[in-house]
Amino acid sequence: MTEAWGPDDDEPRRHHGPVRVRVPAKINLHLGVGPLRADGFHELNTVYHAISLFDELTARAGDTLTLTMEGEGTGTLELDESNLIIRAAKALAARTRMPAYARLHLRKSIPLAGGLAGGSADAAATLIACDLLWGTGLSRDELADVGATLGSDIPFLLHGGTALGTGHGEAVSPILARPTTWHWVVAIADGGLSTPAVYRKLDELRDSSFPPKALGDPDELMTALRQRDPAVLGAALGNDLQPAALALRPELAAVLEAGQRAGAVAGLVSGSGPTCVFLATDAGHAAQVAAGINAAGVCREAVTARGPMPGARVT
Ligand code: ATP
Repeated sequence: MTEAWGPDDDEPRRHHGPVRVRVPAKINLHLGVGPLRADGFHELNTVYHAISLFDELTARAGDTLTLTMEGEGTGTLELDESNLIIRAAKALAARTRMPAYARLHLRKSIPLAGGLAGGSADAAATLIACDLLWGTGLSRDELADVGATLGSDIPFLLHGGTALGTGHGEAVSPILARPTTWHWVVAIADGGLSTPAVYRKLDELRDSSFPPKALGDPDELMTALRQRDPAVLGAALGNDLQPAALALRPELAAVLEAGQRAGAVAGLVSGSGPTCVFLATDAGHAAQVAAGINAAGVCREAVTARGPMPGARVT
């Protein structure tokens, strides 16, 4: 399993392993949700942003496909065919006509069902790791095509940075802004929220007599990103799923309030929640906001993070 893939030096080569890949979590700086389409997806226009909260996937040569894990969600997350890691390895094997053989190990820090796309991140890491281990030599765009069949956020997590997502989020184009590091506080909740349940709740709220106002296009956010001013970016952040996440988890209002009281520039629910994220002016301010939220005792833990970060990369 660890020999060179072919005699020709032009052929991609198998890696002798282990291959270790680090992958970030994502937040959505703007999440505009359109109406429900006939194919069951909502039309999205979103601005993805990769932050410094990472999972790590290690792939070793094996004569079967196995998955083990440690960290967040151990004992809860199924390690069988339902796991996005196994599904991603099999999808790549099918695409490249390789046997899906690897020993995979996940070190998980991204909370489960947190609105941070941890499962999609793990799938993106698997695609990068197995591509190198098996010597299949697909481009990042080809891997993104394989990933898009499994989850809308996977193409973004292969690319990372800050990017516009359209379609149902799978069509990704990088946003070229002047390099700026943004400082965040990530308030991790106890327990998760089901993404489909949050979308269903949004549809229900939109059918009600007082539907929440929809965000529309991310133009203001895109302009704000170019200005490098936290106050301007803070005013442009928005998430159409927030009212639905709050309806399903009213306690999140106290988290958002605690962030505001701790002096955050702005705060919002991350994706489908229940994680909330807060913008800070710099690293010191982020530490101060995290300490304030932790002191309020309204969530499991508030941690600091930076963005943008690169997507899934071999370490
Ligand atoms: P979304 O990408 O829908 O916003 P999320 O960030 O809210 O998702 P995830 O942790 O990505 O939540 O996963 C949602 C569900 O996907 C989990 O509850 C779990 O059942 C399933 N899942 C499958 N594989 C994985 C994985 N490797 N890590 C996390 N969840 C996984």
